[in-house]
Amino acid sequence: MNKRWTISKIKEFVEKNSESKLLTTEYHGFSQKLQFQCACGSQFEKTFTKFKNNHQRKCDTCQPPKVSR
Ligand SMILES: [Zn+2]
Repeated sequence: MNKRWTISKIKEFVEKNSESKLLTTEYHGFSQKLQFQCACGSQFEKTFTKFKNNHQRKCDTCQPPKVSR
């Protein structure tokens, strides 16, 4: 099953599922890093896969990356 994402669907997902905003206006594929703006005002980069599947929906300050042990 291959769900095809477009930039407008991603934008909709981001707005519905997080407090961040999507700044990128073109989507070229799942490996592309997208530019987001966190609710705190900081901007951060993440692939949509990480944003969606790993629930990394804020900047590193609001949601520090988990340290793997
Ligand atoms: Zn933040």
